[in-house]
Amino acid sequence: MQGRAVGGLVIVYTGGGKGKTTAALGLALRAVGHGRRIRMIQFIKGSWHYGEMTSSSRLAPELDMMAVGRGFVGILDDTSTPEQHRRVAAEAMSMARRDVSSGEYDIVILDEINYAIKLGLVDEGAVLEMLGSRREDVDVVLTGNHARPAVLDAADLVTEMREVKHPFRKGMRAKEGIDY
Ligand code: ATP
Ligand code: MG
Repeated sequence: MQGRAVGGLVIVYTGGGKGKTTAALGLALRAVGHGRRIRMIQFIKGSWHYGEMTSSSRLAPELDMMAVGRGFVGILDDTSTPEQHRRVAAEAMSMARRDVSSGEYDIVILDEINYAIKLGLVDEGAVLEMLGSRREDVDVVLTGNHARPAVLDAADLVTEMREVKHPFRKGMRAKEGIDY
């Protein structure tokens, strides 16, 4: 733990309430204001078009967003096989390993990685190893519900989003610009 007092933080946004990915994006917005270089990697391939995939380019070059499953984005139904999900997760993981130690980035955001671990797409031990192998000044943000206890142990900052209300309980569909 030596040197960690001035070193990078491990930050976890987890829980069942809304706001994990958007909290990470807010942090990125703030960090760009200080000229910090941020890599954001999406671990779960989605079929929706998330607004941040487009707007993040406005914060380039400091913010460098990588949707690993991009090849699948735009397909309306999620017809991906578990094997395709696993391949995307493995690709995201090797990118993460490289980006936390390359010196190219000050902050690395691993979006939905907690959920990917929970689904068995990413190995928990490999994530802990990746955190341990990073440059000590790199901040890493891990988002997604169901963060594992070992990941929480490794973290310096953990926030759990708790659902108080969510419109989907009233049957409302996900809203463009709010949910994606
Ligand atoms: P956000 O991306 O808004 O910060 P999050 O990262 O905390 O949310 P995720 O679990 O990644 O939450 O969910 C992605 C989005 O899908 C969220 O905006 C959430 O409101 C929405 N969502 C989650 N579950 C449902 C559901 N059952 N019906 C409609 N929308 C949902
Ligand atoms: Mg999310």
